[in-house]
Amino acid sequence: MSMTKVFKVPRSLHIGPYVYKIRADKESVSRLQVQGYLGLSSSDEALARIDISPSLSQPAKTLVILHELLHACDHQYNDGKVGEDVDHFAKGLTQIFEQMGIRLEV
Ligand SMILES: [Zn+2]
Repeated sequence: MSMTKVFKVPRSLHIGPYVYKIRADKESVSRLQVQGYLGLSSSDEALARIDISPSLSQPAKTLVILHELLHACDHQYNDGKVGEDVDHFAKGLTQIFEQMGIRLEV
């Protein structure tokens, strides 16, 4: 890869009617430890939040960020019907992004 750009995801993003906080902080680490996940999305009106493990290296971090963003999109626009199959789309998008020199960071 000759020209890879790392794009920082905004700290909050409107997805559907909710404003999701997107974090890879101490709170993320403790929230993820409880579940044993690398990423976690919560789509409650009271808590719209995406947590990403800060210790991930690229391109795994891009994959996890896309996976969790897709969960939020699935929840808001598709009643969560895709479920864990979002990972197939996340993998495809990560492959496409890699060829475009795009990586994501929180
Ligand atoms: Zn998932």
